[in-house]
Amino acid sequence: MDCCGQHHCHGHALTRRQWIWSTVLSSIGAILSGGVGPHGSTAAAQTAETTSAALDVLRKSISVDVHTHGGTTGITSQAPPNDTLANGMRAGSLAVACLADVPDAPILGRNTAGVLAALRTPDPGQLYKYHLGRLDWVDELVTSHGLRRATSAADLEAAHAAGQTAIVGDVEGLDFVEGKLERLEEAHSRGVRHVQLVHYTPNDIGDFQTGGITHQGLTSFGVEVIQACHRLGFVCDVAHATEDMTKQAVKVATKPLLLSHTALSGSPAMGPTPLTQRQVSRDHARAIAETGGAIGIWHFFPSLDKYVDGLKEMVDVVGVDHVCVGTDQQVAPGSLQNYSQWVHLVAAMLRGGFSPEEAGKIAGGNYMRIFRAAVG
Ligand SMILES: [Zn+2]
Ligand SMILES: [Zn+2]
Repeated sequence: MDCCGQHHCHGHALTRRQWIWSTVLSSIGAILSGGVGPHGSTAAAQTAETTSAALDVLRKSISVDVHTHGGTTGITSQAPPNDTLANGMRAGSLAVACLADVPDAPILGRNTAGVLAALRTPDPGQLYKYHLGRLDWVDELVTSHGLRRATSAADLEAAHAAGQTAIVGDVEGLDFVEGKLERLEEAHSRGVRHVQLVHYTPNDIGDFQTGGITHQGLTSFGVEVIQACHRLGFVCDVAHATEDMTKQAVKVATKPLLLSHTALSGSPAMGPTPLTQRQVSRDHARAIAETGGAIGIWHFFPSLDKYVDGLKEMVDVVGVDHVCVGTDQQVAPGSLQNYSQWVHLVAAMLRGGFSPEEAGKIAGGNYMRIFRAAVG
């Protein structure tokens, strides 16, 4: 399915509200005229200058949050779809959100150790039914709430050129598949273009970082799933997979792999964190980079400047062509809880020493390379 089925793509003149660059431009105007910060101060002028440079990066290259749930009223909430996500993306000039449905959400909770886990075994078909309900939710979101669903690189390019915010349909954990590859085909036909193999619920695909080891990595069915992702045209995301599973997936993959949300093991920028099991070693990260893929860094840092330090930690290991941004918002607390901060994250990258070209790669260019190879 292409962009049709939405209001905005049949030649209507763009309203100012649809134009994702406008909001930031007017706020820069406010800074320069002294409406924000001390009137005429050097600090205010510098802030305006880096924000303007960041905006230039976001105009030139398509920016992507490679893993998100779309905020507190997003896809994992009970709320019906609304305009909040599109409005936030416009406010921060974020072009694309990979919006992830969480099929095992109905059975997740904190275990006795306070760690997120599947608290019970799902009934057969339960998570599939929930997943189908979330696909309906996304249909309504893209029909009525200012977001275009992109199913090809050409769609993403057209949306960016028109200043329209877009989503890539994403699924965090293939727990709904239950051995039936035709359900993956169905997800593709419903507009999903990005899937993550494992999450918090034991499945027949492979082992996940926060669970017991039951498969010694990737299963033979997991191999079939990766081949199906390549054949059908999905970005294949190995976030949450164990290092063993990841390395086995790398051997099977014939297209670049994504690891959408994590940080480097022992990240000084993160500091002490309950998320150490979800961080990745240098070898784990390098294995992803070797496929031509990228590692997304989540937003669990105390500030945007620390977030940039977290990006640098990973760039030091795998290089600037293999790092991207996968916030995992609405999961809190994080430094990018609101998409109006997106342009300020890019400004922090520039302040932190990344060139505009490097910031453009991290903010979306690297994901676009993977998406083009995997989806077309
Ligand atoms: Zn996750
Ligand atoms: Zn997530």
